[in-house]
Amino acid sequence: MEQFPAYRPRRLRQSAVLRRLVSETQLSAEHLVLPLFVRNGRRVRRPIAAMPGVFQLSPDELVRNAAQAHQAGVPAVLLFGIPDTKDDRASGAYAPKGIVQTAVRLLKRELPRLLVITDVCLCEYMAHGHCGIVHRTQAGVSILNDPTLKLLARTAASHVEAGADVVAPSDMMDGRVRAIRQQLDKLGFTETPILSYAAKFASAFYGPFREAAESAPKFGDRRSYQMDPPNAAEALREVALDLQEGAYMVMVKPALAYLDIIYRVKTQFGYPTAAYAVSAEHAMIKAAATNGWIDERAVTLESLLAMRRAGADILITYAAAEAARWLKPG
Ligand SMILES: [Zn+2]
Repeated sequence: MEQFPAYRPRRLRQSAVLRRLVSETQLSAEHLVLPLFVRNGRRVRRPIAAMPGVFQLSPDELVRNAAQAHQAGVPAVLLFGIPDTKDDRASGAYAPKGIVQTAVRLLKRELPRLLVITDVCLCEYMAHGHCGIVHRTQAGVSILNDPTLKLLARTAASHVEAGADVVAPSDMMDGRVRAIRQQLDKLGFTETPILSYAAKFASAFYGPFREAAESAPKFGDRRSYQMDPPNAAEALREVALDLQEGAYMVMVKPALAYLDIIYRVKTQFGYPTAAYAVSAEHAMIKAAATNGWIDERAVTLESLLAMRRAGADILITYAAAEAARWLKPG
C-alpha cells in the first residue's frame, strides 16, 4: 500500500456521493424487526415509563402500530404477550386463545405480508417470573431444564398453529431448539424456521423490558440460565449447539455492548445473525435525546449501522419504525 504523502485517504471522502459509493456497510429498512407488546382489551395503549414511545397494546392497537411500521418499510415484528393471569405452569403461554395466539391470528388476517415472529418463553406467564419450571427445595430454588422443554415446545407449536411465520425461543434452557423443532415437525410445520436467542446474556440492560413484559422474577435472578457476560467462547458453543439442533437464524442479545460476539458468531458460522438492541439501549438514547445531549436520529442510525458492520443481518429495535422512516430513500 502507498504511504502518505502518496496515499491520501481523504480523497475518497470528498463528497456524499463518493462516500456512499465506497461505503462498506449498508443500512436499510428491510433488516429491521419491531418488537411489540400485546395485552388483552380494546383501545389500550399503556405507556412504559422507562421506554418512551413503547406501549403495551391491545390487539386492535397492535394492528394499528404494526400497520404503521409496515407502511414505513419495516418487514417484520417480534411479539411478546402479557396475559391476564399467571400460574406455575405458564398455561397462558400455550393456550389456543392466549394473547399471543389471538394477536398472531389478527395480524396475519389484517397484514398478511407482515412477517410475524413470536417470542417463545414462559416468564411472562409464570407467577414467579422465571423462564422455566421452578423447583423449590430446602436448599433454595432451581429452574428445571428438561421438564420445561415440553412447555416451550407446546408454546412454539401453538404460535405456529395461530399463524406465526417464525418462532424465537428466548428462555436459554439447554436443548430447547431441538425440542421445538421436533414438535413442529411432528405437527407438520416442517417449513417454519426457528430464530434462537442463542447467545442471550444475563444483562443489566434488560431493566426497562421487565416493566414492559411484566416478567421480572419474583425471587432470584436469571444467571443460572442466561449467559455470563464475560464469556465469548461459550457464546460460540451456545450458537453451535442451537445450529446443530435446528436453528436457522441465531440472535445475540444485547447488541451494542456485545458487538464482538455478533462479529465472532457471524464470522465463525456465517448463519443469518440477529442483534437485539434491548430496552436500556433504547432508553439511554431516548433519555439523552430528551435532554438535548445527543442527536437521536444520528445516534440511533449509527448504532444500527454498527450492528450491521459487526455482522448482524437482522436488527431488532424499538426504534424500527422511526429508523425505517429516516432511512426512506429520497
Ligand atoms: Zn423468559
